[in-house]
Amino acid sequence: MPIGRSLLLAAAQSPTLNRFALESPIVKRATRAFMPGERPEEALDAGAALTRDGRGLIYTKLGEALTSLADADQVRDHYLWFYDQIAARTLPAEVSIKPTQLGLDQSADACLAHCLALAEKAAAVGSVLWLDMEDSAYVDRTLALYETIKAKFPRTGLALQAYLFRTPKDLERLRSIDPVIRLVKGAYMEPAHLAFPKKADTDAAYEAIARTMLEMAATGRGRAVFGTHDMPLVRRIIGHADRLGLAKDRYEIHMLYGIRAKEQERLRAEGFPVTTLISYGEAWYRWYMRRLAERPANVWFVVKSALG
Ligand SMILES: Cc1cc2nc3c(=O)[nH]c(=O)nc-3n(C[C@H](O)[C@H](O)[C@H](O)COP(=O)(O)OP(=O)(O)OC[C@H]3O[C@@H](n4cnc5c(N)ncnc54)[C@H](O)[C@@H]3O)c2cc1C
Repeated sequence: MPIGRSLLLAAAQSPTLNRFALESPIVKRATRAFMPGERPEEALDAGAALTRDGRGLIYTKLGEALTSLADADQVRDHYLWFYDQIAARTLPAEVSIKPTQLGLDQSADACLAHCLALAEKAAAVGSVLWLDMEDSAYVDRTLALYETIKAKFPRTGLALQAYLFRTPKDLERLRSIDPVIRLVKGAYMEPAHLAFPKKADTDAAYEAIARTMLEMAATGRGRAVFGTHDMPLVRRIIGHADRLGLAKDRYEIHMLYGIRAKEQERLRAEGFPVTTLISYGEAWYRWYMRRLAERPANVWFVVKSALG
């Protein structure tokens, strides 16, 4: 793993740096490149503007690994409220949650109950619940959670990470339930016995898994979503889809707010389903450090914001 990336991922775990960043107006200003604002209303307004070109939205409230189960109740209530906001504004929007935000560390049963409540609400307002994939310690529990929720609410989605060696097997295990999958490269610091240390290997794994997902989509099963800003890879995936005779509306490209914004517009103009994931909330530090780690050149954003 390149030194810049591992340093930034290590810094993501530091409580001292976390406190400093949350109190620093300079760092806060720099985050605006990747999130329209901390308040949900700011995220909803920014999303509404983006949907003019027909794209979809996914929202996530930042925060992970709670310390008490009572906090999970609050997160659930927040998302129940948020689904109502989506419905009131008739936004083409879905929601993605982190299982640890809903108490996975404290109680698998409570987490499941919260997720079921959210998936039910999503279904009631014509939306969807997605489960993010967190670090490798959570994969087994998140898969089990997904299978249970999916049996009751079939539109529920799950992120899978291409950098983990186990992911092709996990996808195979899910095949029979017509999974709704968002394939991402993976954002956490993982040991070499679990995940590809080299980016080139992750990229190759992503393309191979993407091909399997496209083949599944070609048989009319599940929903294939590619969550990446890697445009050469996206173009190769489109090439594979073309060769399978898959129409543009049979798979989707999802990207984060503020990253590759022009490419998102271009893909949309070419007729591909594009969705922008918008984050909001006060607990942005760890999430922001992972964004910096994905592209250490982004550290310049922070420096430039400090100067300007
Ligand atoms: C919709 C969506 C949902 C996600 N959900 C999860 C999840 O549940 N679990 C998880 O582990 N990870 C998740 N991720 C993050 C993902 O794992 C990667 O860390 C992230 O997308 C960067 O990888 P990449 O595929 O864009 O490719 P890369 O090869 O890292 O990047 C390709 C190009 O995109 C641009 N780019 C990428 N990242 C940035 C950035 N931060 N700032 C500026 N430019 C950038 C650069 O030009 C770079 O060269 C998600 C990503 C997306 C888009």
